[in-house]
Amino acid sequence: MRDSKKCVKCGSERVVCIPGNVGSYGSGNNIQIGLTTLSAFPVGRYICVDCGYAEEWISKATLKQVEEELKKRGMIE
Ligand SMILES: [Zn+2]
Repeated sequence: MRDSKKCVKCGSERVVCIPGNVGSYGSGNNIQIGLTTLSAFPVGRYICVDCGYAEEWISKATLKQVEEELKKRGMIE
């Protein structure tokens, strides 16, 4: 849906992107790996406004940071 801009469930082309964000105390659309917002990473959502299906994506740049954080914590090699 991110690239096609078309809903994978109903075929609608009314797909909108809600960008991820990291607010105070980890609020907002993000994933938190550690205990603080220093290790919280924004996750964007693509939502079909016709059927309500939603997909979540982490940007390429953020993905690199997530990988580094996971390596630092020994969660991946
Ligand atoms: Zn849909």
